[in-house]
Amino acid sequence: MIEKPKIGIIGGGIMGISLGYFLSKQGAAVTIYEASPVLGGLAGPIHLEDGTQVDRFYHAILSSDRHVSDLCRELGIHDQLRFKETKTGFYYKGAIYPMNNIIEFLKFPPLGWIDRFRLGLTVLAAQFIKDWRSLESVSVQEWLLKWGGRNTFQNIWRPMLKAKFDGGFDNVPATWIWARLVRMKSTREGANQKEMAGHLIGGYITLIQAMTEKIKANGGQVLLKTPVKEIVIEDDKATGIRLANGEVVNYDKVVCTMQAPIFQRLISNAAPAYQAALTRTEYLGIIAPLLVLTRPLTGNWTINITDDRFPFTGVIETTAYIDPKYVGGYHLVYLPKYTAPGSDWQTKSDEEIKRIWLENLKAMFPNFDPSTIKYFLIHRERYVEPLHGLNETDSMPQVKTPIVNLFLATTAQIYPALTNGESVSRHAREAAEIILSVQHRHMQQADAAVETA
Ligand SMILES: Cc1cc2nc3c(=O)[nH]c(=O)nc-3n(C[C@H](O)[C@H](O)[C@H](O)COP(=O)(O)OP(=O)(O)OC[C@H]3O[C@@H](n4cnc5c(N)ncnc54)[C@H](O)[C@@H]3O)c2cc1C
Repeated sequence: MIEKPKIGIIGGGIMGISLGYFLSKQGAAVTIYEASPVLGGLAGPIHLEDGTQVDRFYHAILSSDRHVSDLCRELGIHDQLRFKETKTGFYYKGAIYPMNNIIEFLKFPPLGWIDRFRLGLTVLAAQFIKDWRSLESVSVQEWLLKWGGRNTFQNIWRPMLKAKFDGGFDNVPATWIWARLVRMKSTREGANQKEMAGHLIGGYITLIQAMTEKIKANGGQVLLKTPVKEIVIEDDKATGIRLANGEVVNYDKVVCTMQAPIFQRLISNAAPAYQAALTRTEYLGIIAPLLVLTRPLTGNWTINITDDRFPFTGVIETTAYIDPKYVGGYHLVYLPKYTAPGSDWQTKSDEEIKRIWLENLKAMFPNFDPSTIKYFLIHRERYVEPLHGLNETDSMPQVKTPIVNLFLATTAQIYPALTNGESVSRHAREAAEIILSVQHRHMQQADAAVETA
């Protein structure tokens, strides 16, 4: 008889909860450990002083996100998805230029006709590339210069890349821009190329809660405020986890879903070479002030900033696609700044960030009325977006680790796709198959041993 494998999962973000859902659906007995008092991790909610629940960081679901859409259908929450036509603009030298269709694109003032044509060609070239491996050894700068030319690079791409990577981007492969151009194009539906963005009512937490209910119905457990202190490893084999209070819980398999450097801190007994490989995986961090406003700012979903004097990389107004009635009638504007490893920005106090951000917001929107700010909230995270260098695919951490019965399902394994709810939950489904296939082999061997005896 094959027993239900007992699996401990660390992390209650989209990865951990999706993994718990897919594993428990196939009969595994899962327990999920989440350190914080709420589920969702980066995609989790916060509550404003008046009790309104909003996303801590901005999150859009695209109409092309098939996995999330199918998952919502399977969980009976598909009717909670809302999509809306949205607008995108570019901020350039004091003005916002709409960039929603080919006509607006061709009118973009900083570029001459030839440059505009070449910018269009860049977007088009990305759509035709199916074998991303060919881009892995080409730097993003080299690729953008080749297709878009020097003017487009200097006026558009260079300031955007500089802002996104908080400085240098020499080692960034062309796959980075390719994945973005392909994803953004996928939001444009139909012949009129209208951009559709959406959300679940309540945010991603609605999906996470629906999966949590199913995990529990399948006999699993989801524990909040339960940080795992250590993964117990004996003779290169994981046997369980140790909690902050010293309690040890044994498992057939342990899966970690956090970012690689956080995982590394939990496996002090693992081989030093494996630990060193994990700490080499680098991540962008983020400082993301959220302005809760009583009036809309611009009505655009995203304004890309092609001026690197501004500290924030974009102006993201999620109430361009979330009906304000779902978020207390407010208008939500996020002003994110991605930070490089070791960036000075992360050492600045909240007061400093607030002052600098408000000064720059005023410079960008001279008519902005600060009295429309109901709340100004600053959220930060150190490990947000994994950074992949040139030709690094083969050195990425794998789901199956060198430690027997220990698995890692983490965003750094998602490449070249962008890390978002769609790709993370899809990756969790694939990781669940790997974890179970190893499990089954072990079980079958054990069964064969019993039969032989
Ligand atoms: C600014 C920003 C904007 C984004 N925009 C979008 C978007 O528009 N659309 C989209 O789909 N995605 C978006 N994303 C991406 C998306 O949020 C992430 O890809 C996804 O949430 C990652 O989930 P995860 O489970 O892998 O990691 P995390 O969310 O980081 O989850 C890891 C969890 O592990 C827990 N944990 C850590 N240590 C321990 C421990 N020792 N014991 C127990 N638990 C522990 C943490 O508390 C956390 O809950 C955005 C992310 C950011 C930051």
